[in-house]
Amino acid sequence: MKREGLILIISAPSGAGKTSLCNELLQRFPAMRESVSYTTRPPRAGEVDGQDYFFVSRPEFERMVAEDAFAEWAEVHGNLYGTALHTLEDARRNGIDLVLDIDCQGAMILKERLDGGVFVFILPPTMEELRHRLESRSSDAREVIERRIVRAADEIKECRWYDYIVINDRFEDAAEELSAIVLAHRRRTSRMLEQVAKLFDI
Ligand code: 5GP
Repeated sequence: MKREGLILIISAPSGAGKTSLCNELLQRFPAMRESVSYTTRPPRAGEVDGQDYFFVSRPEFERMVAEDAFAEWAEVHGNLYGTALHTLEDARRNGIDLVLDIDCQGAMILKERLDGGVFVFILPPTMEELRHRLESRSSDAREVIERRIVRAADEIKECRWYDYIVINDRFEDAAEELSAIVLAHRRRTSRMLEQVAKLFDI
């Protein structure tokens, strides 16, 4: 029997560096996969359907909600986002370690519904640094940045119920800490016992 895949749920306020850290994690653990969510948000330049997201219409998304196709879903910045149940089930069954980059509302639903998920919250070192990082992304308008900062202050309060908190001050340190969390979870006794039982006949 294949070992069960690890499900890593990562949330962070916008500007904390979550996307870069998730990408680094996927580089370090080549067998790990990123969960592809469904969204009603239109694709951004360069985004590929089925790779970055499954881009669907609102009626299509609502039909999936009615059919109970989602493990979790939430409205973020006026768009709907959701993780399909089949994505989690396929990964688990095939022993694939999966990373979910989802917001706090969705993570909270999974915390209640999912056995054995690992919940990680990524924080910026300070609010000043978060503002600095958001401002240096040239693409965002002033009011968008202000809205993100207000929202970040609210989201950060949610970190208390996550399993781990990583502060992304130096990127390399944060990436190292995130990797350590994955490695430690792979060695939990509950995940090792089957293999050990075969090796040592216990
Ligand atoms: P973006 O539109 O910038 O790709 O994502 C916006 C936000 O939606 C991010 O905070 C991201 O974590 C969140 N998000 C992406 N996919 C999902 C999902 O399947 N479920 C939930 N709850 N949030 C998601």
